[in-house]
Amino acid sequence: MLKKVLIANRGEIALRILRACKEMGIRTVAVHSVADRELMHVRLADESVCIGGNSPGESYLNIPAIISAAEITDAMGIHPGYGFLSENADFAEQVERSGFVFIGPRPDTIRLMGNKVSAKQAMIDAGVPIVPGSKGTVSGAAGELLEAARAIGYPVIVKAASGGGGRGMQVVHSEGALLNAVHIAQAEARAAFGDESVYLEKYLENPRHIEIQVLADCHGNVVHLGDRDCSMQRRHQKVLEEAPASGIEPKARDAVLKACVHACHTIGYRGAGTFEFLYENGQFYFIEMNTRVQVEHPVTEMITGIDIVREQLRIASGLPLSVAQDDVALKGHAVECRINAEDPFSFKPSPGLVSHFHAPGGLGIRVDSHLYSGYRVPPYYDSLIGKVISWGETRDQALNRMQNALDEMLVEGISTNIPLHRRLVSDAGLRQLDYSIHYLEERLKASL
Ligand code: ADP
Repeated sequence: MLKKVLIANRGEIALRILRACKEMGIRTVAVHSVADRELMHVRLADESVCIGGNSPGESYLNIPAIISAAEITDAMGIHPGYGFLSENADFAEQVERSGFVFIGPRPDTIRLMGNKVSAKQAMIDAGVPIVPGSKGTVSGAAGELLEAARAIGYPVIVKAASGGGGRGMQVVHSEGALLNAVHIAQAEARAAFGDESVYLEKYLENPRHIEIQVLADCHGNVVHLGDRDCSMQRRHQKVLEEAPASGIEPKARDAVLKACVHACHTIGYRGAGTFEFLYENGQFYFIEMNTRVQVEHPVTEMITGIDIVREQLRIASGLPLSVAQDDVALKGHAVECRINAEDPFSFKPSPGLVSHFHAPGGLGIRVDSHLYSGYRVPPYYDSLIGKVISWGETRDQALNRMQNALDEMLVEGISTNIPLHRRLVSDAGLRQLDYSIHYLEERLKASL
């Protein structure tokens, strides 16, 4: 087992990883920016190293500083969390070349799945159903573009091959708008990802976002932990997630679960991962794979009882998975609300001093948050300040418990999106499963 792990992240996920390490008797190293010295996990870690200034480039994306911190503290493994360097194949490679264990997939797998075009090709080869689209990336050449879009049929969506975080996407409803949309998407992709390659996909009008959690070890064992529904989104970013996904055609679900496990064998996957799909009219369409732990992993943990971060640490230590597929039983229903430091309706970020924090509790409630009274939310990073997760025997019970939890939760001094979540969990469309990925934005337009 790894004896000491460096946590190359911040906020709630850094605390989540620290908790798993402590439980397993693994020593921890926190690395942090100047502004983050008061973070909860920095206080709780066995050792901490300030690795640089407040901009992510100076600290959480600063590869030499992170590797130096691992060297001086004698860490054995590096856990990248999500975001930042978690899907950076060059980082994973440098970690391994420097003699540390990267707690995640092999660098070449990250590279393969990190490019959405090569990921889709790998899924075609593994027999996973994908969204129809262009064969590979498209150049800006008018003739080629028009032909590719005609073959797919409008509406189409232009997406960045290296995309992430919902950026670099353009929906095109008719031929006249295509060239311009491609040029915008290319410019956005170049600015955000340093890679302007884009591809076309059929734009599905009313899908749900359904994803499959998998775990794979280095001994050829692969299990899936069922599905999640992440359809409640704003600007292609998830806001509320659930497990399991309700109302899915059982045959289609069985087939896609098997296909994901098969794909892990085909690509030699290692670690925790998520296959993301759009689901429409009883059909699954692969869109991308995330080769890391996800923000919404707790809903799966709540219905399976399996600690996903613990499994990541076991896998990275060369141990077999602690469960076989037959041991994975799904029980009840779980919901997660992402709590952001932002105005609940204008979405303007709201950093600052948390003068008072009170976490909700009770049977079936879990709070993953680094907040405490007196903590100052810095303006430099993502606005996620925590997650409230509820579990119930049924979906309604989980949602009712979430309602109570949100009513109890107090975050004073800054604005949060708790009022938005309170309205959302009692919303009729959400309760009756009458929604697609566009639902939340439509409700927001109608002022929920
Ligand atoms: P990112 O990596 O930027 O998150 P994804 O490919 O995972 O991008 O897509 C994010 C979201 O964008 C999806 O959950 C969905 O809401 C929307 N989306 C992506 N592709 C399509 C498509 N082909 N049709 C309709 N919506 C899509």
